Amino acid sequence: MLYSKIFGKTKKEVKKYEAKNQEILTKAGFIDQVGAGIYTLLPLGKYVLVKIENIIREEMNGIGAQEIEMPLLHPKALWEQTQRWQTVDVLFKTKSQTGQEYGLAPTHEEIVTPLVKKYINSAKDLPLSLYHITTKFRDEPRPKSGILRGREFRMKDLYSFHKDKEDLNRFYQKVIEAYLKIFQRCGLKEVKITEASGGSFTKKFSHEFNILTKAGEVDLIYCSNCSFAQNEEITTKNQYKTCPKCKNFLKKGKAIEVGNIFDLEDRFSRAFDLKFTDENGQEKYIIMGCYGIGTTRLIGAIVETYNDKKGIIWPKEIAPFKVHLIGLNLEEEKVKERCYNYYERLKNEGIEILFDDREKIFAGEKLTDADLVGIPYRIIVSKKTADKVEIKKRDENKSKIISLDELIKLLKE
Ligand code: ATP
Ligand code: MG
Repeated sequence: MLYSKIFGKTKKEVKKYEAKNQEILTKAGFIDQVGAGIYTLLPLGKYVLVKIENIIREEMNGIGAQEIEMPLLHPKALWEQTQRWQTVDVLFKTKSQTGQEYGLAPTHEEIVTPLVKKYINSAKDLPLSLYHITTKFRDEPRPKSGILRGREFRMKDLYSFHKDKEDLNRFYQKVIEAYLKIFQRCGLKEVKITEASGGSFTKKFSHEFNILTKAGEVDLIYCSNCSFAQNEEITTKNQYKTCPKCKNFLKKGKAIEVGNIFDLEDRFSRAFDLKFTDENGQEKYIIMGCYGIGTTRLIGAIVETYNDKKGIIWPKEIAPFKVHLIGLNLEEEKVKERCYNYYERLKNEGIEILFDDREKIFAGEKLTDADLVGIPYRIIVSKKTADKVEIKKRDENKSKIISLDELIKLLKE
């Protein structure tokens, strides 16, 4: 991709934003705010979102879940059937010209449960797991943390259907493993898992996946050694002195909740009369689980975790591009020729490359922009590098001069 052509460039403004993620994502040209809790993802932001959502897709398909796409406009009657039309305070409500009332999807139990009822009725159809990755709407009272808390945001939600609690538990454990892989692949190595009851929608047992960072809204007591964590109020009640799992020290800190999984028991299958007939011909309610990951929130959490004074430092697997090619004094014929040559070569090798092809721009400005955008490898071509290139990692200070062949080999590793 040519940087001169990209829609949404870096901004030099010094404006103060409420949240760090909003500030650097805006300045680097990844997002644009439309209103409180409402954002447009610009091309660079969309690249990152697609990468994250594809990682999630791979891991969900890997545990046998099937992707669908459910609507965002929910007829009121479905939400009345679960008694949530009046009780879910974040539910946005709207009306058609003819006076029909709808909710704007904050979650999808009201759609997925009646859907499954149309197709499933015997034990041999179970277990079943369905997911989708779409927009959610929530009337959040205080959307002030940039893309961490939107009124409109993206989420992957998975729903599972089982003949009994044991089968749900088996699948639930597989989801925990898949979630840890997803966060690891997104560059988030340390995830603290709470075992708390709560969430907006249910009081049943659940697990929350948290990323430790000052920018977080959640107060956690967590283990310095393993993944154990608890919400602070719950720990105070329990009065743990050391980690109940591994006996290491407990620490206190802020975190961002990036995922949340629930055992729904038969709450929704009762509401929609979703039953199956077991081996003995007996009718039973299907047991359900639900599993969310906020994909736009994940972008925010990654940016809050990986940044420095100069800008973003994208983890490799989710960076919008792998390399950022910069030609210094691109006006010079030799340099220009080499840059376009290398750009084509790398593209043909299948390497995702952003080429700052702007002419008559100071070297310092290009380098500052590259740091702000945060692509993992920076490659400089100038008079000084002759027929070689200077390569530097975004998170390191030292650079080295290597040949194009060496560069291709390194990038393909
Ligand atoms: P929170 O406690 O942060 O309000 P929640 O517990 O209500 O979130 P869930 O209903 O479990 O969230 O949603 C699943 C995931 O969706 C969350 O773990 C989070 O990553 C994401 N999410 C929830 N609300 C928002 C929001 N307003 N903006 C962006 N992402 C969100
Ligand atoms: Mg929650």
